[in-house]
Amino acid sequence: MQSIDTLIHARWIIPVEPDGELLEHHSIAVHNGTIEALLPQELAVQNYSASNEVALNDHVLIPGFVNAHTHAAMSLFRGMADDLALMEWLQSHIWPAERRWVSPHFVRDGTRLAIAEMLRGGTTCFNDMYFFPDEVARLASDIGMRAVVGLIAIDAPTAWAADTDEYLSKGTKVHDAFRHDPLIHTAFAPHAPYTVSDDGLTRIRTLADELDLPVHMHVHETRSEVEDAAKADGVRPLARLERLGLLTNRLVAVHMTQLTPDEISQVAANGVNVVHCPESNLKLASGFCPVVELSEAGINVALGTDGAASNNDLDMLAEMRTAAYLGKGLSGRPSALNAMSALKMATLNGAKALGIGHLTGSLLPGKSADLTAVDLSWLETQPTFNPCAQIVYSASRHQVSDVWVAGQRLLDGRQLTTIDEQLVLENALDWKTKLTATGASDDD
Ligand SMILES: [Zn+2]
Repeated sequence: MQSIDTLIHARWIIPVEPDGELLEHHSIAVHNGTIEALLPQELAVQNYSASNEVALNDHVLIPGFVNAHTHAAMSLFRGMADDLALMEWLQSHIWPAERRWVSPHFVRDGTRLAIAEMLRGGTTCFNDMYFFPDEVARLASDIGMRAVVGLIAIDAPTAWAADTDEYLSKGTKVHDAFRHDPLIHTAFAPHAPYTVSDDGLTRIRTLADELDLPVHMHVHETRSEVEDAAKADGVRPLARLERLGLLTNRLVAVHMTQLTPDEISQVAANGVNVVHCPESNLKLASGFCPVVELSEAGINVALGTDGAASNNDLDMLAEMRTAAYLGKGLSGRPSALNAMSALKMATLNGAKALGIGHLTGSLLPGKSADLTAVDLSWLETQPTFNPCAQIVYSASRHQVSDVWVAGQRLLDGRQLTTIDEQLVLENALDWKTKLTATGASDDD
């Protein structure tokens, strides 16, 4: 009998790999943060002696969600400016508030709020794009959350950096500082084609090749952005990115609501990863990402919430449902984007896009024990014919009972174990008072 850290028995397990598999009355053996084995419960109790044994008798265990695009700290702007188009929202509200308020303190408090929300909703990894990525990395590591921290670049001076030189030198320092942290990964994060010059993008491409990192960027988010760029540059942003050598399998292109059939072929041929953020796109009326066509062209499509200021939550369960319904509605085919595909988009596809598919995103022996349990005993998810359909079409994130990241139980019976919930609430209230008192939305 082998001694291990944790043995989790679950009514159902959906490992996501192999594709479509559903295990009943199985257990997951976890040791040193890694999945040792998935096996039938009766064998598990014969083979393993565990320090911790957890019985999830009414639950389905799935890989933790990978939120493939967010701006965690922007949770502090949740509900500050709503019902606006992207450019008005950014230029009249978000950017002025950021100029005034973004600091290490703001980023720490906002990111803690976001991580608490994400863990309570079953997310075990987030791909972030924001200022002070050093703070995001330190906080995520302290909490025990897996993060891909964006080394942001934008052609505007901010509290984090003054110019491209400083963005890139500070970014590479963050990469160096966290290179050996098993929970922290990095990606270059040029904000968008319309906010980063050819020079900046060329340098990022070279650095990303040298350091073997993904490039995380908003691309073709709205029609007006693409039309304006085409007028100014003579080509659409995707063509410009191709000219600069950025259309590769390193690129994690977020939104992609404006794509011609030729562009879809080009994205497929170059192995570009796409992140679909359906709720943010709907709320800002940015357009529709043609997810079904992209998937059918063989493109890896992941799922993200975007920041809580444009969504307005970080709820991957809801995002899966919206993505599935939009995929069906837009394609006119109810069989498109089925429940299992939605779950794969929210887990394995995100991990693959971020270059960490060997570590997380599915429940295979040897991968990190990044796990989420959803309690299906609630009347809202009864009767349970098909647990995957229950997760995608019926369950709410409040049914997420337990979450492990690298074998550490960060949510235990809905209680956060490494975050002080009271502190999160008090900080949110403090920031609301500050942002309200100074009229954050009409500042210079
Ligand atoms: Zn975004």
